[in-house]
Amino acid sequence: MRTDNGESTSVWMATADTPREGRLAEDLDADVCVVGAGIAGMTTAYLLAREGKRVAVLDDGAIAGGETCRTTAHLVTALDDRYFELEKLFGERGAHLAAESHAAAIEKVEEIVGAEKIDCDFSRLDGYLFVPPGEATKVLDDELAAAHRCGLTEIEEVERVPDLSFDTGRALRFPRQAQFHILKYIDGLARALKRDGGRVFMETHAEKIEGVDDDAARVETSGGKVVTSRAVVVATNSPVNDLFEIHTKQAPYRTYVIGARVARGSVPKILLWDTPDPYHYIRIQEGSNGKSGYDVLVVGGEDHKTGQADDAERRFGILEKWTRDRFPMVEGIEFRWSGQVMEPVDSLAFIGRNPLDKKSVYIATGDSGNGMTHGTIAGILITDLIAGRENEWAAVYDPSRKTLSALPDFAKENLNVAAQYTDLATPGDVESVDEIKPGEGAILRAPATARATTARTGTSSTVPPSAV
Ligand SMILES: Cc1cc2nc3c(=O)[nH]c(=O)nc-3n(C[C@H](O)[C@H](O)[C@H](O)COP(=O)(O)OP(=O)(O)OC[C@H]3O[C@@H](n4cnc5c(N)ncnc54)[C@H](O)[C@@H]3O)c2cc1C
Repeated sequence: MRTDNGESTSVWMATADTPREGRLAEDLDADVCVVGAGIAGMTTAYLLAREGKRVAVLDDGAIAGGETCRTTAHLVTALDDRYFELEKLFGERGAHLAAESHAAAIEKVEEIVGAEKIDCDFSRLDGYLFVPPGEATKVLDDELAAAHRCGLTEIEEVERVPDLSFDTGRALRFPRQAQFHILKYIDGLARALKRDGGRVFMETHAEKIEGVDDDAARVETSGGKVVTSRAVVVATNSPVNDLFEIHTKQAPYRTYVIGARVARGSVPKILLWDTPDPYHYIRIQEGSNGKSGYDVLVVGGEDHKTGQADDAERRFGILEKWTRDRFPMVEGIEFRWSGQVMEPVDSLAFIGRNPLDKKSVYIATGDSGNGMTHGTIAGILITDLIAGRENEWAAVYDPSRKTLSALPDFAKENLNVAAQYTDLATPGDVESVDEIKPGEGAILRAPATARATTARTGTSSTVPPSAV
C-alpha cells in the first residue's frame, strides 16, 4: 500500500497499490522513450506498445506518483473551460474537434478497460453543470447552444439536478460522462504494457533530454545510464526539457479536495460542477476507508495560482463548509489532499512536437483540470504522430499553435507569471530539497549556472525559466 503524508493522501492512494519497478541499471535502446509515468505517459506507452514499438518509460518517482494519484478522476466532455469560449479561440471547427477528442478519450478508456479486463470501477454516468442560486444563468444558455454546435447534441437543460439534497436550480445534463479509480486503471495499463514488451523504470530521473536529430533522441539519467531511442515523449506534466516556450503559455494552479464519509447511496452517483470562480466539483467513490455501508463523497475546488496563496487550511475549511451546507448526510471527513493543474492560456492541452526542437521530441502538457482525457488524447495523438498517421486533432493541440484571439488573456497571464518571476530574485522558499515537507512544493533557488530543477515531493512545483 502506498503511504504518504496524511494531509495529502488521496482516496486512490488509500485504496490501491501501484506496481513497483526497479530503477534503470544499464544503458538501453528503445523505439520510444517516455519520460513520466502519469496518465499521459502510461497511456502513450501502452498505445505505442500495442503497435509493436519497443517502449521504455522512466519516472523519477513512483508510477502515477505525480498529479495522477491526486486527481478526482472524472472523465468528461463537460470541459473546465466553456465551449462558447473555445469557439472564440479555435473557431467552431476547432471547438468541435476538442469536443470530439474528449468524447473519444472517454471511449478509449472504456475500450482499454474492456480489452484488458481492468477492474477499476469504471462507470458511465451523468454530469451536471449548475449556477448557484441568485446568479445569472446566461452561461448555461450560451454553453448549451455552443455544445450543440460542437456536436454534443445530447446535452440538455433540466429544471434542477435530480435526487440531490439541495435545489441547484436550472442545470445542464451531460450524459455519458465517466469516472474510474485512477490507480487501479494505471495498474492495468502497466501490466498490459509489460506484457507487450514495454519496460518501466522508477526512481530514474531524466537529467538531460535531447533530440539528436529528427529520428533520434537521447535521455541521460541522473544515475548516469542513457536511453537512446527514435523518439522521446516528455510527459512530465510540466515539460522539464523546455525552459521557455511552453512555460510562457501556461500557469500552474493548486486545487484542493476533501473526501467525506456518507452512508451508501445517500448521495446520487453523478458528477456535478458549479460555475463560480473558483468552482466546486463532486463525485462519489463507492466504498469507504475500510468501513462497510459507506461511500466517499469527493469534493474539489478552491483553486488558486500556485505560489500566490499560502492558506491551504482556510481553503480546506471552505470546501468542508460548502460540502456540509449542501450534503447534511456527511458523517466525517476522511481525506484531504491537493495537487496542481497546468492552465494553458487558451484552454487546451499542448500535445505534439516540442516547439523549436528536433522532430523526435514530443510533449504532453497543459492538462487544464481535464488531464484524464487530455492525457488519453495525448496517448492517441502522439501514437499517431510517431506512426506517421494523420490525426485531425493535431492542429488544435499543436504546442506551436498561435491562438491570436487569446492574446489579451495571454498578456495578463504572463504579467502575472512575470510577477512570480520577480519573486525568484529573492532567495527562494527553501535552500534545499530536504526542507520541503512531503506533499508540499516550494521554490528552490538554483545557482545561476545550474539547470532548471523541478523540486517535487509528492506534488509538483514548477521552476520557471528565469529562475536559472
Ligand atoms: C486535485 C486534482 C483533481 C483533478 N481532477 C481531475 C478530474 O476530475 N478529471 C480530469 O480529467 N483531470 C483532473 N485533474 C488533472 C489530472 O489529474 C492531471 O492533469 C493528470 O493526472 C496529469 O497527468 P500527467 O501524466 O500529465 O502528469 P503526472 O501524473 O504528474 O505525471 C508526470 C510524471 O513525470 C514524472 N517526472 C517529472 N519530472 C521527471 C524527470 N525529470 N524524470 C523522470 N520523471 C519525471 C513525475 O514523477 C510524474 O510521475 C485533477 C488534478 C488535481 C491535482
